[in-house]
Amino acid sequence: MEHLPIFLRLRSAPTVVVGGGRVAQRKIDLLLRCGADVTVVAPELREDLTQYAAAGRIRHLAEAFQPHHLDGARIAIGATDRKAVNTAVSEAARARAIPINVVDDPELSTFIFPAIIDRSPVVVAVGSAGNAPVLTRWVREQIEALLPATLGALARFIGERRKAVQLALMPSARRPFWERIVGGKVGSQVLRGDERSAQGDFERELRATQLTASAATGDAGLGEVYLIGAGPGDPDLLTLRALQLLQQADVVLYDRLVPPAVLERCRRDAQRVFVGKGTTQGARGPHTDQEQIHELLVRFARQGLRVARLKGGDPFVFGRGGEEIEVLTRHGISYVVVPGITAALGAGAAAGIPLTHRKLAQSLTLVTGHPLEDDALDWHALARPHQTIVFYMGVAHLGHIVSRLRAAGAPPTLPAALIERATLPGQRTLRGTLENIAERGREAHICPPALFLVGEVAALNIEAGIEAIAPREAAGLPEPSE
Ligand code: SAH
Repeated sequence: MEHLPIFLRLRSAPTVVVGGGRVAQRKIDLLLRCGADVTVVAPELREDLTQYAAAGRIRHLAEAFQPHHLDGARIAIGATDRKAVNTAVSEAARARAIPINVVDDPELSTFIFPAIIDRSPVVVAVGSAGNAPVLTRWVREQIEALLPATLGALARFIGERRKAVQLALMPSARRPFWERIVGGKVGSQVLRGDERSAQGDFERELRATQLTASAATGDAGLGEVYLIGAGPGDPDLLTLRALQLLQQADVVLYDRLVPPAVLERCRRDAQRVFVGKGTTQGARGPHTDQEQIHELLVRFARQGLRVARLKGGDPFVFGRGGEEIEVLTRHGISYVVVPGITAALGAGAAAGIPLTHRKLAQSLTLVTGHPLEDDALDWHALARPHQTIVFYMGVAHLGHIVSRLRAAGAPPTLPAALIERATLPGQRTLRGTLENIAERGREAHICPPALFLVGEVAALNIEAGIEAIAPREAAGLPEPSE
């Protein structure tokens, strides 16, 4: 290890930055965030820094650098574009035993600035001893993605209660207690901004721990459920919150639409339970399947576990998430819903089909393509021009959907597309019109999961360029009014 990572307390400490340009400003901003007392030595300042000086946020010495400028400084930074000046700053600092950083010059520096992930009061610093700043930033981005934006709130929540816990618990009981708080329900409540519930559960947990010194396995009443949208399939389309909660969950209940690549993002030791229904056609399998899922959710949560219910797309779009939260509410089990990218959005992006378009489609409707529910649909409304309709769970019933649209007045030339396995390996897009799409789909053996998209935008392909759109007259479509 070439550098010792430490965190310097610089509140009100005299610090000197030599240089008044953009590079200097970045360091000055950092120092100000730490509450340092900043003196800037530079014949001239850039505009922003002039304003800092005018506002009294920094002290400006409009002079050429002199070694005595560093007298009494806690740290010094050389940030000029002149090697000779930076060298002089470095020498003056070393002569005074003041830690010095010369920006982008490890030779002249005795300390370096790490890449920072700031969730104050939690701060993560990443460095590569000046070898590979690009790699350092990449590492920082990976960590950024994993740490909830509200981590600081959790650190403060804990900080404010440490004294109370010290008084209440024996030293040996404290660490397991805090581990349960951080990794358990209380921690996730604070992270999602619900400090009021967190406080209640915190007090209960503390009392329970006081009563049973051996409560290390946790209070069995404290499980919770995360209803997580896994997105259309590509694991990189998981949300940050989905990833964070998947890293916490003890058990993961997933269905057929969740591909292995997404499951790999779960905690390594999490128990994985497949609860797929008999068919990808959907969340419409026999009733008992759904009831079994409800039972499992309740049973695991009652065991005090953190349960991730991972669903394809978004849990509230044809995902029966509503029924699951009703059951959880009835049993007094707390839950979090994490939205996911629904298949239609994934498919539009992956197939290069914009779902709305200023000229071609002013609305987007997500519709179940399951025939059991189609009497409830207003087919005349769905057959009108200038809109995009996306049918979920519809591939097995394409002929039926097309004939209902046609009967309601949609022209045979209306563009349509089938998008199979959107965002997954082997994705296919098939284009056509109402007249031929069902047959083309059959010929190409389009299988679930696939979406059926109807509307003028289906003739668009962003990659091929907008010019590739068939002329509207040829498609038998009226010009849209602006
Ligand atoms: N909650 C999910 C939808 C579940 S219903 C969501 O928001 O996306 C299941 C239907 O979703 C499938 O029959 C199919 O029509 C569609 N679907 C899900 N993932 C898909 C994918 N990767 N490509 C195409 N269609 C998909």
